[in-house]
Amino acid sequence: MKTLHGSCLCGGVVYRAAGPVHHSSHCYCTMCRKQHGAAAGTYANVDRAGYVIEQGAALVTEYASSEHGRRGFCKVCGSTLFWRSTDSPERIAVTLGTLEPEYDGPVERELHTDTKPRWLPVR
Ligand SMILES: [Zn+2]
Ligand SMILES: [Zn+2]
Repeated sequence: MKTLHGSCLCGGVVYRAAGPVHHSSHCYCTMCRKQHGAAAGTYANVDRAGYVIEQGAALVTEYASSEHGRRGFCKVCGSTLFWRSTDSPERIAVTLGTLEPEYDGPVERELHTDTKPRWLPVR
């Protein structure tokens, strides 16, 4: 079981997340798109118990985007760090783009493809 390591753009927040990754996803919902400023939110879903903010916990701010959804970001640089749901407190979804080294697992799921933007690159 590999441990994931990540940090935000300014380097103020450093975290680790113990494996296994239960699943990973690209989410094209309008909330993820807005928050990430990108085509999708990208996540690895892991156990909350194994998620540790090693540095910069005071910089991590949460936005309640729905009744149950909480979106964690760095208040200095704005990097999106995680998504979690108060409905399933045993899990947390860390953002693939903040992981170092680059995430090398499969991304099995695409969520909310009905709002997948048409401007994604065409291969
Ligand atoms: Zn930061
Ligand atoms: Zn989403």
